[in-house]
Amino acid sequence: MSTTRFAPSPTGRLHVGNIRTALHNWMLAQKTNGEFILRIDDTDAARSKEEYVDAIQADLGWLGIDWDREERQSQRLARYEAAFAALRDAGRIYPAYETAQELELKRKVLLGRGLPPIYDRAALNLTDEQRAAKEAEGVEPHWRFKLDHSEAIEWEDGVRGKVKFDPAQLSDPVIRRADGSWLYMLPSTVDDVDMGVTQVLRGEDHVSNTAVQIQMFTAMEAAVPAFAHEALLVGKEGKLSKRLGSLGCDAFREKGIEPEAVIALLCRLGTSLPVEPIADRSALLDTFDLSTFGRAPAKFDDAELERVNTAIVHAMEYDAVRDRLPDGMDEAGWYAVRPNVATINEVGEWWRLVTGPIDQPEFSEEDRAYLAQASASLEWGNDPWGTLTSTLKDATGRKGKQLFLPLRQALTGMNHGPDMGELLPLIGEEEARARLSQASAS
Ligand code: GLU
Repeated sequence: MSTTRFAPSPTGRLHVGNIRTALHNWMLAQKTNGEFILRIDDTDAARSKEEYVDAIQADLGWLGIDWDREERQSQRLARYEAAFAALRDAGRIYPAYETAQELELKRKVLLGRGLPPIYDRAALNLTDEQRAAKEAEGVEPHWRFKLDHSEAIEWEDGVRGKVKFDPAQLSDPVIRRADGSWLYMLPSTVDDVDMGVTQVLRGEDHVSNTAVQIQMFTAMEAAVPAFAHEALLVGKEGKLSKRLGSLGCDAFREKGIEPEAVIALLCRLGTSLPVEPIADRSALLDTFDLSTFGRAPAKFDDAELERVNTAIVHAMEYDAVRDRLPDGMDEAGWYAVRPNVATINEVGEWWRLVTGPIDQPEFSEEDRAYLAQASASLEWGNDPWGTLTSTLKDATGRKGKQLFLPLRQALTGMNHGPDMGELLPLIGEEEARARLSQASAS
């Protein structure tokens, strides 16, 4: 049984990148009948907004990514305080007094010498008097976690395989600001310990955080969860970051994208499995496997999402869509129109051909005579369209486009559209007669 978590910061809306992470964690938990936790990382009081928490929940709800448990970092501050005190007492956290400008200068000097900008641990070497002097000057310390340089940090990553870091090549991370507020690193680790998280799956931008957090787990004498880092999503032409704002659930919904299309695409994108229009989640779950994840960036392409969506819509049964269809549209209406729509949003346009009013084109005199003949020979049986067209074919010698197009135009006002055999019974006898006679008289 895996316990996984999705840990968004409520500082904005979800986008394809984090939807993908949420989905994969949800799937990992589902696969083992485990637990999926929604953890709201809201320690940054200034940037976190309640409206984003609501939006995150609504978006996950729309996607059908349900969580077993919800946690809020802002309600767990006492736990972070306790873990901080314990690690400080154990000598793993130390105060530092450099200003942002001083740190920036140190970085520049190192980079200028062609060296990696690793924090020099100057604060660790301060004497008690020097520290007291800083505090007497009114400088409040920020706090760093002291990495253990004695051995390499290693883990078997679920996507990347063996990963190894030399801790001496990492800066001791700042974990708490001078005003007492928390940075991401420690609270996340404390939560993963307290909540029994067994599997952490996140983007590869977190790989070096993992190295640090593994030392935190160990320092807290806690079991280290399994880690996996997936390659980031990129756009078809490279960076996605600029477009992320428009790649969220609202935009998808507006474009008529079904949640199942988003799920089907994001489940397989960046894996060795083909992207297929699979609306059945259990089928997706059966094949979901971290070992199929590639290390190359996964390419997100809107056109691919639209293709998957159309294929999914074309397989949707009436019961799944009935609440979203125009008033009066029944099962036969849905199946008649379904092959012609790319999204459910387009259904109304086609349904108007049935309900009217329609806009007939101008017909030639010859076609008017033909349509008058059609009007006279219309018989309303089981298959009015089949009967009408075969009668007219025999009577007039017309075939192909000449036979069908004027009828379609007269009956629907369009040159193309859903199958007329299905549409005509929906239009109904009275209305069909009225449209044919109107066309023949125009
Ligand atoms: N709030 C963090 C983020 O959104 C969570 C990262 C993690 O999964 O640990 O990047």
